[in-house]
Amino acid sequence: MQDTTHSNLLYASAPKIYPRSVHGFFANLRWVFVLLTQLVFYGLPWIEWAHRPAVLFNLEARRFYLFPLILYPQDFIYLTALLVICALSLFLFTALTGRVWCGFACPQTVYSEIFMLIERWVEGDRPQRIKLDHSKFNLEVLRKKTLKHVLWGLIALWTGLTFVGYFVPIQDLLHNVWTANLVGWSLFWVLFYSFATYGNAGFMREQVCKYMCPYARFQSAMFDADTLVVGYDAKRGEPRGHRSKFLSTDALQNEKGLGHCIDCQLCVQVCPTGIDIRDGLQYECIGCGACADVCNEVMEKMSYPIHLIKFASENAIEKNWGLAEQIKRIFRTRVLIYASLLLSLCCVVAYQLTYRTTFRVDIVRDRNTLARVVEGQDHEMVMENVYRFQIMNSKESTQHFELSAHGMDQLRIETPQLLEVDAAQSKWSVLRVAIPATQATPGSHKIWLNVKCLDDDQLVSEQTVFIVPLL
Ligand code: SF4
Ligand code: SF4
Repeated sequence: MQDTTHSNLLYASAPKIYPRSVHGFFANLRWVFVLLTQLVFYGLPWIEWAHRPAVLFNLEARRFYLFPLILYPQDFIYLTALLVICALSLFLFTALTGRVWCGFACPQTVYSEIFMLIERWVEGDRPQRIKLDHSKFNLEVLRKKTLKHVLWGLIALWTGLTFVGYFVPIQDLLHNVWTANLVGWSLFWVLFYSFATYGNAGFMREQVCKYMCPYARFQSAMFDADTLVVGYDAKRGEPRGHRSKFLSTDALQNEKGLGHCIDCQLCVQVCPTGIDIRDGLQYECIGCGACADVCNEVMEKMSYPIHLIKFASENAIEKNWGLAEQIKRIFRTRVLIYASLLLSLCCVVAYQLTYRTTFRVDIVRDRNTLARVVEGQDHEMVMENVYRFQIMNSKESTQHFELSAHGMDQLRIETPQLLEVDAAQSKWSVLRVAIPATQATPGSHKIWLNVKCLDDDQLVSEQTVFIVPLL
């Protein structure tokens, strides 16, 4: 019997949350982040750089464009470094400011905010939405629900198109949509991303943060008592209780023994995850500050000091620290470790990117031709090894290259030694390297194939082997 009850609780569906609209400092700040992040996300695919998209991950051509940078799969190390930089930044900002990422910049928060704005515009604020959802079906309900879902669908579709616009030039993509030629993987990803946006921001909302996002689970490892969180000052607020609007602070203390919380429940009603911040720090809290905004309004109406709910560290709330003391606590060990790791990695990546060569070389032995004796260019018999090599030009202009080889006596290249590779292109060629047949000592010999860029004097040497079989 007990087991059944327990499993019912485990699978109980979560009640729908109807967040009330809220105004104030954190609400404004969140909209600033919504606008900035969306300006970047929707805008980047439209920016051009040297007659090509400034940011494009061309998976088919295996080439990634990032403003002046042209990266090839061989530059994967930079992508890895970028991911490590993102992870370290997240650690640092979480240690300092808690879940600001979740509350202000995470795509789940940002799109939920946009979708909720539309919902409020079409269906009204919390009381009207609750009433609408509980009213009998009629034409007004149909009109409002249809309008809301159409608007959500359009935003989701545009988001899906923009996402794919990072992998396929956006003009080509829109042309394909316009001419009904959007097929295959592009169509799949547009629909997939649109559907994910529609579902996550329209329906899943706080469920994603509570049950799907791993960050909420492991962030506590980065928190300490000096991390900024949204917290309720229980010392000041308790005992909570209703009272007349005009009861002054002194009268409170003396006559009713109440704290400043008037138990209006507004902080619960505005919370997008439906929790009560007065129960203490909870993993469901995304640190959006909505409860702080609404509580400040309540405090002002009651003529009490604001910041009963505020962004502050647990220590600061507990010990009544001022700003100066909190700033001092920024420079603590874990913050300094995260910051120095992040700074060092950024410096290394910046140095590597600044001084990297403007071309890349990939050399592989031709597996079909191990070694052979043939007639060389000067009609003498030579022992020849064949290689396939690729030069990737990561500049926006044509580059010229000269090939050479060293590592064995009289080693020479039998194929053309001068090459030209167009801007931002790569070229595969066959390279035949030879030594006089009479000089050949059986075995595997280390040699170096050199590619020199004639335009800026850079040289890349790749080590390989020259094989002389037993004849
Ligand atoms: S909004 Fe402020 S006053 Fe109202 S219940 Fe929440 S903490 Fe108490
Ligand atoms: S408790 Fe406050 S800060 Fe946390 S999610 Fe709810 S409204 Fe946002």
